[in-house]
Amino acid sequence: MNNQANNTRHGGISVDTEHIYPIIKKWLYSEKDIFLREIVSNAADAITKLKRLSSLGIREQTDENYRITVTLDKTAGTLTVADNGIGMTEEELTKYICSIALSGAVDFIEKYENQSDSSKNGIIGHFGLGFYSAFMVSSSVEVKTKSYTDAPAVHWTCNEAGEYETEASDKAEHGTEVIMHISDEENEYLNASKIRSMLDKYCSFMPVEIYFDDGEDKQDGEEKCVNDTFPLWQKSPSECSDEEYKEFYRKVFADYREPLFHIHINADYPLNFKGILYFPRFANEYETIEGQVKLYYNQVFVADNIKEVIPDYLLVLRGVLDCPELPLNVSRSYLQTNSYVSMVSAHIVKKVADKLNYLCNNSREEYEKIWKDICPFINYACMKDKKFYERVKNSLLLSLTDGRTMTYGEYLEAAKEKNENTVYYATDASLQAQYVSMFTAEGINVALFERPIESQFCTMLEQYMEGVKFVRVDSEIADSLKGDGSVTENEELKALFIKVSGNEHLEVRFDSLKNSSVPALLNISEQSRRMEEMMKYYSFADGDSLPSEMTIVLNTASPLIEKLTDTVGTDSEKSEAIASYIYKVCLLSQKKLSAEEMQSFLNDSFDILMKL
Ligand code: ADP
Repeated sequence: MNNQANNTRHGGISVDTEHIYPIIKKWLYSEKDIFLREIVSNAADAITKLKRLSSLGIREQTDENYRITVTLDKTAGTLTVADNGIGMTEEELTKYICSIALSGAVDFIEKYENQSDSSKNGIIGHFGLGFYSAFMVSSSVEVKTKSYTDAPAVHWTCNEAGEYETEASDKAEHGTEVIMHISDEENEYLNASKIRSMLDKYCSFMPVEIYFDDGEDKQDGEEKCVNDTFPLWQKSPSECSDEEYKEFYRKVFADYREPLFHIHINADYPLNFKGILYFPRFANEYETIEGQVKLYYNQVFVADNIKEVIPDYLLVLRGVLDCPELPLNVSRSYLQTNSYVSMVSAHIVKKVADKLNYLCNNSREEYEKIWKDICPFINYACMKDKKFYERVKNSLLLSLTDGRTMTYGEYLEAAKEKNENTVYYATDASLQAQYVSMFTAEGINVALFERPIESQFCTMLEQYMEGVKFVRVDSEIADSLKGDGSVTENEELKALFIKVSGNEHLEVRFDSLKNSSVPALLNISEQSRRMEEMMKYYSFADGDSLPSEMTIVLNTASPLIEKLTDTVGTDSEKSEAIASYIYKVCLLSQKKLSAEEMQSFLNDSFDILMKL
C-alpha cells in the first residue's frame, strides 16, 4: 500500500452516482453556508479521535497544540480548513471519502431530493451531506492528508464532475488540509467577513481551537482563537458565576439588557442534554416577543429557534441546548411527535417551574421585582398547561393596588376574616380608585389585574382552586363595606334613576355603607362583565359598551341621597338633575364616556356651578 502514493491514480464516481455533483451544487440553495460547519466539524472530530488514541495509550502522549486553521487566500481563490488530527492513509481516504462519505451523501440526497423546498427547509440540522457539502461552493476540492501512523501522505484532487486523482504528497505533519477552490458563482465565500460570520454562527463553541487567517497582515502579529472550546453550558452550575451567565447571554444574543433569570440544565441519562435558558428582559410590551433557542450537537451549532423542543407557551425563553441524542436530519413534523423530544420538552418545563419555586422561596425580593415582567408569560403558561400550573401554583404572585405583592396562599390567608375565599381585584387602579379605597379602608387587599388575559386566568383559577372566587371591586358590595344603618327603600328614587339612566334594565338597590361620602356605586355583576369581556375578546361587542344588567347601589348613609330622598317628591326638576349627575359620575368609573355623554356631563357640571 505504501508505494501506492508514488504515482498518480485516477478514478471516477460510479455510474449511479454520476449525477450527484450537480445535485449537491444546487442542494439546499439557501443554506450553503453549512459546508463550513461540516468541514470544520470533521476537522474537530479528527483531532478528538487523535486525542482519544493518546488517552487510550495507543499513541504516545504529546504536548502538541491541537488546532484548526481556516485560511482564506483570495489570490488563489481558495478556502482551506487544516487540522492536526488523526489524518488518513490513502486506503482510509479511498474508503471514507470516496466510498463511505459519498454513499452517505447519496443516501442523504436520495432521501430528500424529491421533497419540496419547504420541507427541505424543515429538516433540522441538515447534517448528513458531510464532506461532500464542500462541492456546494467549490469547483474542485483538494485533500492533503497524512495519517498519524507512518503511512505516507496523500494528495487527492476531485473536480465537480466527480473525477478525482490521488498522488503522493509532501505533507510532513499528521492531519488533514481540505482546500476548497471556490467556484466563480460562489465568490462571496472569498469574503473574510462572510467567513468570519459563518464561523461565528456555526463554530463558536466547537471543542477544538479554531483560528482564522483572513490573508491580511495581523498588526500585533497575534492570532486570536475564534471559538470558546469549553462553553458555559458544559460546566457544572456550581462553577459558573452570575457574571459569567450574563456575559454568555450578552455574547450569544447580542442583547445588552440583563436577562431576568437563567436556568442551567444538566440532564443525565437517559435524556443526556445540557443547556442554559434565559428569560429575557423586554423593553416594552410591543417588542417582538420571540425567544430564540439555539440547538447544538456536541458543541456544533445545528439550528436556530428550535420551537419543537420547548412548549410554545415558553417560547419567550432564549438559550442554548446541546442535545447529542437528538436525531438530526429529521423533519420538524417528525420532531413534533418524537418521544425523546417530548421528554426534553417536559424536562425543560419542570426546570422552569423549579426555578420559579426556588426564586419564590429563596429570593423573594428579587422574585417580586421580576414578577411584573414575567407574570403575563407565567399566567399564560398556567392556562396552557395544567401540569405547569400544578408545579408553580404556590409561586404565583398577585400584585396589589398598593404596590405590594403576595402569593395566592398569602392573600387567602389574610382574607380569612373579612373576605374568606374571595379575591377582590381591580383592573384599572385610577378608574376604580373609589371602589378600591373603600376596600382598603376596611383592610381588604385588592389585587391588580391590568391585562385582558387576566380575566380568563381568574376563570381558570376558580376552576382549580376550590371554593375561591374572584370578584372585581365594582361588581358587588362586600358585606364588610356595609354599615349597620337602617335601609329604607324608596320607590320614587328607583323610578327616578331608571329614568335618568335611560336603561330600563337598571336595577336600583339601597344599602347603608360605612363610607357615607359615597352617594352611589354602579355595580356590574362579575358574571355579566366576564361575559361582556368575552364578547369583546371575540369582537362581538364594541370596546366601550357595558352590559345592560347593572345595579346602582344608593347609599342611604350618604347625606346627598338623603337630600335627594327629600326633594324627589317636591321638586322633580332638581331631583332629576341631581340623580342624573350622580348616575353620570358613577358611569365615569366604569367606562370611558362617549362624546355625547361627556358633553352632557360637562353641561350639567356648568349648570351646577351656575346655581352655586
Ligand atoms: P461524517 O463526518 O458524518 O462521518 P463526512 O462525509 O463528513 O461524514 O466524512 C466522512 C469520513 O471522512 C469521516 O467519517 C472521516 O473518517 C473522514 N474524514 C473527513 N474529514 C476528515 C479529516 N479532516 N480528518 C480525518 N478524517 C476525515
